[in-house]
Amino acid sequence: MSVAEMSVEERRARTTYALLLDHLDACPPCQAFADCPEGARFRRALRAARAAARTAGGPDE
Ligand SMILES: [Zn+2]
Repeated sequence: MSVAEMSVEERRARTTYALLLDHLDACPPCQAFADCPEGARFRRALRAARAAARTAGGPDE
């Protein structure tokens, strides 16, 4: 599926995931699985975005 075919929700989930990966790359606490409010915020946002993408998935889901 191309990016153009994705719903707004799917694109948002993808963007959020990319942001989380960028953060993990640059964040020593996250790399050590330590407490990181920023990382927790990204993971929460990603969960919400994925749930929204599933809900908006259409009739064949
Ligand atoms: Zn972090």
